[in-house]
Amino acid sequence: MNIYFDNAATTVCGDTVANAVFTAMKEVYGNPSSVHSLGQKAALALDRARSDVAKLLNCEAKEIYFTSGGTESDNWAIRSAALTGALKGKKHVVSSKFEHHAVLHTLNRLEKEGYEITLLDVYSDGIVRPEDAERAIRDDTALVTIMYANNEIGTIQPIAEIGSICRRKGVPFHTDAVQAVGHIPVDVKADNVDMLSLSAHKFNGPKGVGVLYARQRVPLNIFMEGGAQERGRRGGTENVAGNIGLATALTEAVENLEANAAKTIAIREKLVKELLKIPKSRYNGDPEKHLPGVANFCFEGIEGESLLLKLDAAGICASSGSACTSGSLDPSHVLLAIGLSHEIAHGSLRLSFNEQNTFEEADFIIKTLPPIIEKLRSMSPVWERIQKGGK
Ligand SMILES: *Cc1c(COP(=O)(O)O)cnc(C)c1O
Repeated sequence: MNIYFDNAATTVCGDTVANAVFTAMKEVYGNPSSVHSLGQKAALALDRARSDVAKLLNCEAKEIYFTSGGTESDNWAIRSAALTGALKGKKHVVSSKFEHHAVLHTLNRLEKEGYEITLLDVYSDGIVRPEDAERAIRDDTALVTIMYANNEIGTIQPIAEIGSICRRKGVPFHTDAVQAVGHIPVDVKADNVDMLSLSAHKFNGPKGVGVLYARQRVPLNIFMEGGAQERGRRGGTENVAGNIGLATALTEAVENLEANAAKTIAIREKLVKELLKIPKSRYNGDPEKHLPGVANFCFEGIEGESLLLKLDAAGICASSGSACTSGSLDPSHVLLAIGLSHEIAHGSLRLSFNEQNTFEEADFIIKTLPPIIEKLRSMSPVWERIQKGGK
């Protein structure tokens, strides 16, 4: 039995998507750069995938660049803006403390290369303030990059407001929208973004496929030298089948967005209501400005990793933070950024789910989790201390 509540880490490919990828691999196998008919068939299929994605994001097909996923799109967008800025003597980047490591580690690298990085505070509700972004922007700011929705606690950021501030100040604005696209409405025009990253495997598409949207007026440098693919900016034979899979998955996700969200929100409300009955538990992040399918909790006196192992033994796949930080014993940088102590942040549990999950599965978690927590607490010296009223 596998109850999969780790959909913010990755999702399972839907049948329609898997079939579209399979068919493309078997039948649309020409190289889109070839002049013969099979090549042109592949080029046409790729064009269609690109314009489908463009329509769904409300932009032009020529503003869509296919990539290998969210990490590449984030790296490309940030590096490109940093290089463009440096040519004009602008070497300052504004971001936030709770970005994904694809963004934070790229910024760390830039810092070593002589850029100055300002990371905005995230408040206890897990939301960045537009006025803080406005204050942080300087004459030499080359880029503002703020995530659309956080992958650990699910909070949605005021992207359109920050975008309009950046537009007014003439500073390029990028958003890592990997957790948002396919789950909540995203419209690059309404959201005032210049660049946006998305990844197929976060909305039931294949892994290793993503998109960087770059507004036409925003300069985008060459990411990979080679052929003329992706308008000469990312050489290499296109992942035709994967890109078709991405477009198929995004079409399905956007068509069913409201119905999917309604079911997912109902599952979340049930989980939150029931799991907060566990003593010394807390829900992390603003409960309203929130993705449908992510719920993050802390349970005092336990250790997240032990909890995950016990849950796994009971057939439940969950996460304590992001997949990227598990394996290290440091508490999540996201939970620390919203002001939690190391001790409390250690006892975190992220449940992430979508329309493919069921209410029965949620019931199973609600039944299974409390005795596991009780057991772990009974063995925990920290819990003993909390019980005695110590701090
Ligand atoms: C998953 C994720 C990424 C990385 O995307 P990949 O396609 O796995 O490289 C980046 N940002 C956020 C917010 C994510 O959740």
